[in-house]
Amino acid sequence: MLDTAVQGIIVIDQRGKILVYNKACEAMFGYTAEDALGQNVRMIMTAADREAHDTYISDYLDTGERKIIGIGRAVEGRHKDGTEFPLELSVGEAGTPDGRQFIGILRDLREQRASETRIKELQDQLIHIARVNALDEMGAALAHELNQPLTALTLYLQAGLRALDRSSSEASAQAVLREICDKALRESGRAGDIIQRIRRFVEKRETEKRPVSLATTAREATEFANIGKLSQKVEWHGEVEPDLPDVLVDPVQIQQIIVNLVRNALEAVAGKQRRIIRTRIFRSGDRVVYSICDNGPGIAPEIIPDLFHAFATSKSNGMGLGLAISRSIAQNHGGELEVEPGGNGRGATFSLYLPAAGNSA
Ligand code: ADP
Repeated sequence: MLDTAVQGIIVIDQRGKILVYNKACEAMFGYTAEDALGQNVRMIMTAADREAHDTYISDYLDTGERKIIGIGRAVEGRHKDGTEFPLELSVGEAGTPDGRQFIGILRDLREQRASETRIKELQDQLIHIARVNALDEMGAALAHELNQPLTALTLYLQAGLRALDRSSSEASAQAVLREICDKALRESGRAGDIIQRIRRFVEKRETEKRPVSLATTAREATEFANIGKLSQKVEWHGEVEPDLPDVLVDPVQIQQIIVNLVRNALEAVAGKQRRIIRTRIFRSGDRVVYSICDNGPGIAPEIIPDLFHAFATSKSNGMGLGLAISRSIAQNHGGELEVEPGGNGRGATFSLYLPAAGNSA
């Protein structure tokens, strides 16, 4: 029975000597039963655990305090070839005429860890694709936004050439040119800023969490999301509670959520005579909240049940990915994204909860 078990089974006595070592253990650790029986269980432990294991047992026998027995937890095992790998270990205990024995059941977690890593990679890729997609949707507006400073630059340069042709004295040409260069520089700086912002937004990189101000992150995201015609005639009311703690997040991913919420709000109010969007950033317990409320029609009732699922959209050009991805980003950060759908004359309100960073209040 022991040898047909899929999981590794090891029995040791209270000095750590291996009494039972089944077939699954042979595959897991590379030692045969012959190698292992009678040896100390330290042989399949990592250096860190090896030192401490005898003390674990004697501590338990002295105090009766259970750190692993009956609980089970993830530990590292050591293969004969020296590689270390993750295991789930649960330990039971039996009293026998020869003293106490401990029964360990071991499950190899390598495959599970590998698929967790793979899922995380896929999720990161999806988040990135959604950012590129958001940018694609904003493409026309971005082209327009960039075109403005470039057109202005062309005009200033033409004006400079004319000033050179026309001016009679060098001194007067210089004064005019200086002013023109100043203005041209400002415009090229503006174009550069826009490109920088786009690059930061779509850049493919590892997730990187650090403490940042949610207010600053939200302000930058809002400027970015406001590019284009949609933002015309919108009344913005922003409120930020003073002395907020930082949040521990990947700022680009949080900006992705906020860009998405702001674009949705802008689209929701687009049909209104008076367009109002209110944002509030405030503290709630050990979390910081960003909430955005618009005076649009509210969430269409037929969308509500699937709102945070992929492909739920009421827009002809929508992918319905924004909110699904936004919620999973929030949850990956230990936060949440919630909605009050509104309707009957009330617009939608979305609230993004993020954990405050340490005690950096
Ligand atoms: P998409 O914008 O591509 O449709 P989202 O996941 O961002 O994808 O949004 C899904 C749907 O939720 C939208 O199509 C829209 O019907 C609805 N929605 C989102 N935000 C609002 C809002 N502020 N007001 C009304 N409806 C909204």
